[in-house]
Amino acid sequence: RAKAAGRNAVRLFEPEMQSVADERLELERGLRAAVESLGSETSFQLHFQPQVSIRGRLLGAEALLRWRHPTLGDVAPDVFIPIAEETGLIHALGAWVIGEACARIREWDAHRVDFGEHLAVNVSPWQLAHPDFVDRTEKLVREAGVQPGRITLELTESALLQGFEAALQTMYALAGIGFRLALDDFGTGYSSLSYLSQLPLHELKIDRSFICGLRPEAHSPLASFIVDVGRRLGMTTIAEGVESESQRATLDTLGCDGLQGYLICPPLPAGAFVAWLEQRENTRHPARADERGA
Ligand code: C2E
Ligand code: MG
Ligand code: MG
Ligand code: MG
Repeated sequence: RAKAAGRNAVRLFEPEMQSVADERLELERGLRAAVESLGSETSFQLHFQPQVSIRGRLLGAEALLRWRHPTLGDVAPDVFIPIAEETGLIHALGAWVIGEACARIREWDAHRVDFGEHLAVNVSPWQLAHPDFVDRTEKLVREAGVQPGRITLELTESALLQGFEAALQTMYALAGIGFRLALDDFGTGYSSLSYLSQLPLHELKIDRSFICGLRPEAHSPLASFIVDVGRRLGMTTIAEGVESESQRATLDTLGCDGLQGYLICPPLPAGAFVAWLEQRENTRHPARADERGA
């Protein structure tokens, strides 16, 4: 195929492809080094983004991983997570994320910082497919002294690609231990509706792609349908990537339970997140809505 494109085209693309390969190699090397030194110092950090009810009551937060490469600078999780998955580094890195989340829960409890009921962490399908994932995760959380029910494990539909039965079994084991389970990015994967009804899920997260076009005056069949499915299956529905008040108002009309997005707050480092919580506590804006039981 390269030949068909002509000699000049090939020559044009070569240096570019080389630099892409170089950067990928450098990222992979950096990631390996960073994961290997996780015990001592770390170039990883968790940021936290609040999740609130549609009326503004605090529900919890999602932990989002950040990584700074020593020379390339900040690398987006959409770039380094796939590399961690392909190299198998995701298992150690994912365990660190859960350990860190537990440490923050303990710390915030000790300082009476109210961040809501639960803290969510993202779990890669590769982690879920690892035979030791359930045991290791249970041990990690127990040793940290955190109730599993305070942790939401965010899975994606691709978790099912390892085989439905295997994934189902793992999910039931996790739910049995007491973890909350959420399906992340819902609507972007391949899972059928019959699968969805069999999964022990507590929460359905509606992908941002269904949220960005929401307008109060426009009919929104897909978002409306997803909220409905979640509710009928007894799950909490959370909208991702809510950026405007009009999107929030539309989600309210549709009966969506909660939301997360820049409208409320962007993901913040732990210190700034706690400051945000405290400032919110002081102004207590949504207090009236909450008293009415929102
Ligand atoms: P996700 O779990 O679906 O996380 C939501 C993403 O949307 C986050 O991107 C968040 O920063 C972004 N976001 C939040 N509110 C808004 C908004 O109002 N508008 C827009 N445009 N974006 C918003 P981020 O932090 O870059 O993470 C991207 C993805 O990387 C995550 O998607 C998740 O799949 C993955 N990821 C992040 N941390 C971890 C982790 O610790 N482990 C694993 N396995 N994956 C992770
Ligand atoms: Mg997520
Ligand atoms: Mg998502
Ligand atoms: Mg995503």
